[in-house]
Amino acid sequence: MRQTYFRILAYAWPYKKALMLGIFLALMASIFNGVSLSALKPVFDIIEKGREVPFQLSLSEEQERVLSRSSHREELVKLYSSHSIYTEKVAALPADEKGYVPQTYEKLIIWWGSVIVKMNLWLVHIKPSDLLLYVCFGVLPVYLLKLFSVLGTVFFTASSGLKAVRDVRRDLYDKLQNLPLSYFVTEKTGILMSRILNDVLLISNSINHELRVALINFFIITTHVALLSMISFKLLLICTVFVPLILWPVNHFAKKIKGITGDEQSKLASLNGHLQEVISGIRVIRAFNMEGYEMKKFDVINEDLYRHTFRYWVNHTIGPALVEFTTSFIVIGLLVYGGLKITEGEFTSGSFLMFLFTLLVILSPVKQMASWYNVINRTVAAGERIFEIMDRPPEIADPENPLEVSRLKKQIEFKKVNFSYEGSEAQVLRNISIKVKIGSTVALVGQSGAGKSTFVDLIPRFYDPVSGGILADGIDIRNFRVKDWRDKIGVVTQEIFLFNGTIRENIAYGREEISLDEIKRVAHLAFADEFIEKLPAGYDTQIGERGLMLSGGQRQRISIARALLKDPELLILDEATSALDTQSERLVQRALETLMQSRTTFVIAHRLSTVFRADQILVVDKGRIIEKGTHKELLKKGGKYKALYSMQFQDVG
Ligand code: ADP
Repeated sequence: MRQTYFRILAYAWPYKKALMLGIFLALMASIFNGVSLSALKPVFDIIEKGREVPFQLSLSEEQERVLSRSSHREELVKLYSSHSIYTEKVAALPADEKGYVPQTYEKLIIWWGSVIVKMNLWLVHIKPSDLLLYVCFGVLPVYLLKLFSVLGTVFFTASSGLKAVRDVRRDLYDKLQNLPLSYFVTEKTGILMSRILNDVLLISNSINHELRVALINFFIITTHVALLSMISFKLLLICTVFVPLILWPVNHFAKKIKGITGDEQSKLASLNGHLQEVISGIRVIRAFNMEGYEMKKFDVINEDLYRHTFRYWVNHTIGPALVEFTTSFIVIGLLVYGGLKITEGEFTSGSFLMFLFTLLVILSPVKQMASWYNVINRTVAAGERIFEIMDRPPEIADPENPLEVSRLKKQIEFKKVNFSYEGSEAQVLRNISIKVKIGSTVALVGQSGAGKSTFVDLIPRFYDPVSGGILADGIDIRNFRVKDWRDKIGVVTQEIFLFNGTIRENIAYGREEISLDEIKRVAHLAFADEFIEKLPAGYDTQIGERGLMLSGGQRQRISIARALLKDPELLILDEATSALDTQSERLVQRALETLMQSRTTFVIAHRLSTVFRADQILVVDKGRIIEKGTHKELLKKGGKYKALYSMQFQDVG
């Protein structure tokens, strides 16, 4: 757990200078706060004693005793002879002691005492009403300094904290791009999104906001406790006894809240998941009239979420309310005790009120620090979920000494390829060995679930064979850098991925150097130019979610234009099963033919015309290649292909 927390903090390390500055300013802010509180003492003492009596800082009996023996005795005598308020004191001073050598702790008392005496010597001649003004004006700049320190703390810790969070998010996103494809099949989209958005947000709050608050609190507590001990050590000890009384309810309810928060997060995640399902499946839900059914499922989750949230807020409110209650008792107790002691003359009302105010200032930081543990817990939990993803092995590692990928000349070979998906027993491809001449077309046919998609997914190394290998001109493709190898391959699938942007951007797909003429050329080859030019903004028309909706055939032609622009050596096609209208179908078909020309093509075939023209047809069944040859050869053979042929192939062209 500690490890995870440090790993999160490590993200802030590159921004340590700003962070340190922030921490330093937090310390300064609490010191200024303490100083401003100290102004209370003279103010209240003056108010209590009236206009005639000069304000003096109090010297304890011990300070007086030690000072009178030291070299500062003269100053003390001078002070006590300076005003009528001290008449009794001069006589009562302990006798002078020659040759006195103070001990170390006494030196400290002497130093502090002499500072007070010097201040008092100055103060004794100042009119209390003037002093009141000095104090009030003197405190103003301190408040200003405090304000700047607080702002600085927020600025420097927040900027370094948020930069750290930005880096976490970036690393996570980067990792997502490199995760094995299987991960995206097994993990729900909603959950993945929640990692990047919610969990990172939790961490963000923690290192940006809560860490800063904790730092400030820590400094406020330490500096103000020091101040309290200076005012009255005895009173401070008495108060310490009550600290557990404040901390207990905070801790107790914080623990309860922690449990509830965990549940709440998971309820929120299921709500997310449900919403995502409903939104993406909205057509089916409407068509099957299943709105009521989905509503019921939603209601259950929603009700659960409501209960948890309610419980959270009840517990969230009870804790502080209880603390409020106990602290008011403590304050009342202190007031009674302090009142008595003031009348007994143990301390002035100024000191007592300053003590009380200072105590009130640290109450809330003490409460917050008590629940700090829970904050850390929540952060660590989020961190663990994030690092779990970050620590997954990447999709496919590049070889240490990658080979240069040269232009393909002879053939692609599948050599004794076996494959099964991770975490599944079933063998999806069994002992596949085939050779494909460069420039030729291979059509894969077979029933659904036979393994055709898996077969073609091995070519761009979306997955690697469990045993056996794929050779390009005799070299196992695992010897190449994944990126280099994929550069050679174009994929046109049934799910066409068009993003929010213009048609031009969608065809160029990330390549900014491509000229409009080049885009027009490939659009023409893909039979897409005609409809594009009819659009109001032509190639600059926005498409995708925020823009124009295109028909199925138009989308396909755009994706074909995109593939043409990439001009790959190897082409992987997954022919659409859904029938387009005749006109559209013919255009797509012709565009595909242009694309396939003089390219090594692997096509999952659904059209008769495609298998007709294929140089080699592979009939896949339960992960094996059971027949191979040309259309004519296979028909003549009268086996599985013939049966499939008469049953399956749709053709319009
Ligand atoms: P086809 O493309 O011929 O319809 P696939 O290659 O999609 O067949 O699937 C072959 C077999 O592999 C099927 O039994 C399918 O259930 C299984 N399969 C496909 N994808 C995965 C996956 N990600 N994890 C586990 N099994 C899978």
